[in-house]
Amino acid sequence: MLSMEFYNPVRIVSGRGALRNFEDIGRFGKRCLIVTGKSSAKVSGALSDAEALFAKAGIEYEIFDAIEPNPLLSTVHTGGKVAREFGADFLLGIGGGSPLDAAKAVGIFAANPDMEPEDIFTAPRKDALPLLAVPTTAGTGSEVTPYSILTVPSIENKKSVAGDDLFPKVAFLDPDYTKSMPVSVTFSTAVDALSHAVEGFFMKKASLVSDALTRQAIPLLAQGLRQAAKAKSASDITCETREKLLYGSALAGMVISRTGTGFVHSTGYMLTYYHDVPHGHANAYFLADFVAFMEQAVPERAKEIYALCGVADADGLYKLISSCEAMPLDLRLPAERLSYYAERTIGAKNVVNAVSVISKEELLAVLQRRLGEKA
Ligand code: NAP
Ligand code: FE
Repeated sequence: MLSMEFYNPVRIVSGRGALRNFEDIGRFGKRCLIVTGKSSAKVSGALSDAEALFAKAGIEYEIFDAIEPNPLLSTVHTGGKVAREFGADFLLGIGGGSPLDAAKAVGIFAANPDMEPEDIFTAPRKDALPLLAVPTTAGTGSEVTPYSILTVPSIENKKSVAGDDLFPKVAFLDPDYTKSMPVSVTFSTAVDALSHAVEGFFMKKASLVSDALTRQAIPLLAQGLRQAAKAKSASDITCETREKLLYGSALAGMVISRTGTGFVHSTGYMLTYYHDVPHGHANAYFLADFVAFMEQAVPERAKEIYALCGVADADGLYKLISSCEAMPLDLRLPAERLSYYAERTIGAKNVVNAVSVISKEELLAVLQRRLGEKA
């Protein structure tokens, strides 16, 4: 008997001019806090489109542009206060996964004035402020997920908050906003999206719908990765490819919105936290070994992933992911560090929610293979 649930209540508006020409903005309120990073909103062109839209609709806005990559819990706590003081009715997040995730958490703190920063992970709460999301990278799929991933120095790691109130109300997918991404960011964020589509396929919560989304997403992402790998500069990546990557990453985001991610993500967080490796770049070290590990338990599904990526096996997948000069996989770490990272990540829920659960020794072997000083 088929038993399944799939819920992803995000209104997606896509195509060139999707934000600029949106006619329904008035329903979200009269005052908006724009949450973004240092420059992505400006260089992508999304900020000026938002400003024109708000001017036309008579919406007052303020800009909070303090979001750093891998947003800190303290930054989003401050953002909550800014949103409250401004009296924001809703939020507009513009940027990569960092500003979009940050905007979700800003929305929580704005709606829950007495919440202490660390309570965001555990305390019952009032629903976050409504969020409209404008991705400027094609990677995290945060515009269609109910997750906000925050960096928490007190635990020396990232931690996620989830909740149906964190699904953006609208996601605006305009590939023009991703054109300004340098090749390295294009490639690493595309690897992140590929990780989502692939990891979700091997999680216990995978369903007929998430599988269908994975099958649709991977060929778009694999084609995009191949073209981005060859690009010398951002302008070598065509609009058509930018479009494929953006849609592929949104589809992959819908996958993880229901399935969650696997050990690729939890292990990657160590490289990001301790070595400042960008998120997708960190995933790249582990994705092929993840599929090779799952292949032992569910060989047909692993073979399907290889075929969707257009490669023969795990080695072919690693080759595809490591093929971009702008994103070399050359980090090498001492054995004690690798043991520490295996120890730190083995109990993560990402690890245990997979159809086959990797042991600490097996995870350490993966870390040694890809990051060991003799690798
Ligand atoms: P990001 O951290 O948002 O951005 C990386 C860099 O790229 C930043 O310097 C950013 O500039 C710049 N950038 C973004 N868009 C640009 C554009 N169009 N042109 C030029 N530069 C641009 O990168 P990301 O990989 O998209 O997001 C990573 C975060 O998302 C991590 O914290 C990760 O844990 C999280 N994540 C969330 C989910 C989820 O489901 N919510 C899933 C996977 C990952 P600015 O500094 O100006 O912003
Ligand atoms: Fe990710």
